[in-house]
Amino acid sequence: MAVPLSQMWTVARYVLRQKIRRVKRYPLVLMLEPLFRCNLACAGCGKIQHPANILRQNLSPEQCFRAAEECGAPMVSIPGGEPLMHPQIDEIVAGLVARKKYVYLCTNALKLEESLPRFRPSKYFSFSVHLDGPREEHDRAVCREGVYDIAVAAIRAALAAGFRVTTNSTLFVDADAERMRAFFDELVELGVEGMMISPGYSYAKAPDQEHFLPREQTISLFRRLLANAPKRWKFNQSPLFLEFLKGNWELECTPWGSPAYNIFGWQRPCYLLDEGYATSYRELLETTDWSRYGHASGNPKCRDCMVHCGYEPSAVADAFGSLRGMLATARLMLGLGRQKRGAPLANEFPSGAIPFVVADQRLQPPPQVYEIRLPATTGRQAHAGVTVGEDIKQDRLAVVGPSASSDT
Ligand code: SF4
Ligand code: SF4
Repeated sequence: MAVPLSQMWTVARYVLRQKIRRVKRYPLVLMLEPLFRCNLACAGCGKIQHPANILRQNLSPEQCFRAAEECGAPMVSIPGGEPLMHPQIDEIVAGLVARKKYVYLCTNALKLEESLPRFRPSKYFSFSVHLDGPREEHDRAVCREGVYDIAVAAIRAALAAGFRVTTNSTLFVDADAERMRAFFDELVELGVEGMMISPGYSYAKAPDQEHFLPREQTISLFRRLLANAPKRWKFNQSPLFLEFLKGNWELECTPWGSPAYNIFGWQRPCYLLDEGYATSYRELLETTDWSRYGHASGNPKCRDCMVHCGYEPSAVADAFGSLRGMLATARLMLGLGRQKRGAPLANEFPSGAIPFVVADQRLQPPPQVYEIRLPATTGRQAHAGVTVGEDIKQDRLAVVGPSASSDT
């Protein structure tokens, strides 16, 4: 099991308490950003673009403790920036652990090994190491060679020192399902406690705007990624969230479930969007027009989002808040049969088809890249409103290359 029993029990009790009290909106994970600066500059990052005077600032330990106490979430995730660059991060972690918060410190691991003596192993504390795939893919995603090897060495050192270690992987449009599956096996062999996976979000500020996944492609990718997932893969996530990523379970975003706190205050409405700040969690809850956010709202900024910070709290609320959710979660955790498969996607083709990756030349700039499947027999197949064979002939679609991925 990827999540310790004590943590599961704490979260279950907390959610049930909210249900009994009929609290409609409550926080599950505090996203605590104690700083925005980082020692990497990943192309898909939407957090490090602030001016230098902002990047120099840190939240104080007292501000962090006040935020944790004010919102009351049982879990605290510390992303950034790179938290290990915060001069008092050890004090912040120790204070949160003393308050019995389950803390996940997200790190790119460049400073992890040298920082280990600053921390003490605890059931309340885990390093969550950023690894976006196998060596080649990860180093490309973080725009620097050698980072994967440093991270793997640091994971080994942290495990040897008795720390809980998990990983977090963000997937982009060029993710190769087969290579990612082999990567999950590598992480299992490494001995990490659990893995967290999520599609990326197309931050308006991120330099790379071409590699984020539209919703249908996210579902298609996660169906291939998690097809017949072996029991040795342990995900540090709710089983219903993973079913949601595969298009097998309906969820709506609950952005108040993972509130983000940083040097500006409580970020509205979520960790991903930056539409103003509230001075307290209560003010955030009471003065945000939540109907403007989430997939059903029709907000274009939310249209393709399936990111864990918006949907994991919804999955947990379903798991403990409805009999159907409870039964589905229990069935998935015990491996007693699979969740019913969701509707087929427009671009899912029968088995026996040949997958290709094509770029739509009509969308300039930049070309939209699709993975499509051409049946071996005809080479012509309608896909998302285009006749592939015809459009390739007329230079409206260009074949980028065969895809290595397989059907589920
Ligand atoms: S390691 Fe994280 S915070 Fe740093 S640049 Fe990359 S995505 Fe941004
Ligand atoms: S759908 Fe995504 S971007 Fe929109 S509010 Fe929810 S988490 Fe934020």
